[in-house]
Amino acid sequence: MRVRRAVVLGGGPGGLYVARLLKLTQPSCEVVVYEQGEPDKTFGFGVGLAAGTQRNLEAADADTLRDIVAAGWRHDMTMAVGGRDARVHNDRLIGIARTELLAILQRHAEKAGVQIEYGTRRTAGEFDADIVIAADGVNSATRSAGQFGESVEVGRGLYVWCGADFALPDAVFAPVGTEHGVFVTHAYPYSDGRSTFLIETDEETWRHAGFDRSTDATPPDASDEVSLRYLEGAFAERLRGHSLIGNRTRWTRFRTVRCETWSDGRTVLLGDAAHTAHFSIGSGTKLAMEDAIALVEGLAEEPDAQSAFARYEAVRRPAVERLQELARRSQLWWESFPSRLHLPAERLMVAYMTRAGNVPLERFAATSPDVVTAALEHYAGAEPPSQDVVDWVLAQPLRSGETEFPQRVLEPGEGGPTCTTLAVAVTDPWGEPGDAVVDRARQARENGTDGFRFTGPADRAALLSRLDLAERVRIEVGGLVVVDGPAALRADLAAGLVSGRCDLVSFNEEQA
Ligand SMILES: Cc1cc2nc3c(=O)[nH]c(=O)nc-3n(C[C@H](O)[C@H](O)[C@H](O)COP(=O)(O)OP(=O)(O)OC[C@H]3O[C@@H](n4cnc5c(N)ncnc54)[C@H](O)[C@@H]3O)c2cc1C
Repeated sequence: MRVRRAVVLGGGPGGLYVARLLKLTQPSCEVVVYEQGEPDKTFGFGVGLAAGTQRNLEAADADTLRDIVAAGWRHDMTMAVGGRDARVHNDRLIGIARTELLAILQRHAEKAGVQIEYGTRRTAGEFDADIVIAADGVNSATRSAGQFGESVEVGRGLYVWCGADFALPDAVFAPVGTEHGVFVTHAYPYSDGRSTFLIETDEETWRHAGFDRSTDATPPDASDEVSLRYLEGAFAERLRGHSLIGNRTRWTRFRTVRCETWSDGRTVLLGDAAHTAHFSIGSGTKLAMEDAIALVEGLAEEPDAQSAFARYEAVRRPAVERLQELARRSQLWWESFPSRLHLPAERLMVAYMTRAGNVPLERFAATSPDVVTAALEHYAGAEPPSQDVVDWVLAQPLRSGETEFPQRVLEPGEGGPTCTTLAVAVTDPWGEPGDAVVDRARQARENGTDGFRFTGPADRAALLSRLDLAERVRIEVGGLVVVDGPAALRADLAAGLVSGRCDLVSFNEEQA
């Protein structure tokens, strides 16, 4: 379609990028971005952009990508737990200051002829335009006012987004125990003198530390200084004597946004306004910029706004939903992270990489042999091979009390401890249905059961959730934990064993 006039609400990465791409593909179109904030006064510190995104941006707009990569900062990744560091090489991710990213996108948008109006908050209804692109972020007023079928799911945990004025050598995941509970940082460098420190905790710890009160008492434009000073003390070792810097820093719960449809009449949602994915998979900026590419393609290829929006949604929705599902699993894993601190750093790194079912154990073993070898040695007390690790993991013996299992795969009818079978089909192992299973397991344990056998649907999503619930029971209730699954998903079962999600597995061919 030929767009005469397009209005973009929001000058975040999604809004600025879509404006430039639209102007490049349709030079006669008048494109105006309205951003309520002032340039260079953005909220936030560094964001990450993965290699796959960089390839997509390269194809869409090589000039912009070149500047982004030049301003980006590469880093490896470390899990620092119990005095040990597990480090993996990572050349797939760059960190970049959000201010720098926005400055680049602003410059390129203006170079293409986009008009940007700062300091003005606008609404979709007030414009005479062919299309209104609402890239107005997670709190999108356009979404709330329109017919998009929005739903917002609020996370259990709380997080703050802080910075520090030095560059960490690597990205680091590190927990810290305090008198109030455990805080965990996801920290990474994003320029030669800056790092992001994202810190999360659970609600109980947050309340014990009094942060519910300090956040309440913090004015909207200020940072929660009480929390910042406390966290600075807690993470003093990681901060190497530096301070934590706030930028409207306050405790927040992550909000996952989903919409039944992304368009309503001539208005279309883009980026965080349409969908969010938990920060632990570092994909929000990527999703917003990839949306921009697809929307502009749809507008170029289709005869009218409705069909362009439908095409955009048809292209983007599967990728977005796939990432939202990975993000959901990742969020649940991080929210329950403190319960896994008994594992050594290398096994925790394996658990982290396999938490959402996205990175197969064999692939991780091939790219990070040192970490995986150390994890496997700890798991089996024996030296692992360099190949076929899934077979090897399953073939390892296990001694549990008086019982000796020749391998980790329980044969049908094999003797051993008395096990209570728990048939489960939960999507959130830490939700109420998960709590009910834990209660049942505790009761069975009190009544003398030695362990549990988790059975359920044969599909992969169900198996991954079953493994998570099995892990929860293993940690909170104890006993020998067996997880049933189809042999075709043996790699997931092996990853579950190494990650401490279960002690044994069994193949149930009937389910496959
Ligand atoms: C703690 C945390 C960590 C994150 N880490 C990462 C990461 O590592 N990697 C990553 O890729 N993503 C990360 N993200 C997500 C990322 O910040 C967002 O997904 C991304 O910025 C989305 O871009 P956007 O353009 O859709 O929205 P935003 O960047 O939110 O931009 C929306 C803009 O719209 C403006 N606006 C809103 N309403 C109006 C209005 N009515 N009129 C005018 N202007 C308006 C706002 O001022 C804002 O500038 C993180 C998010 C959080 C919360």
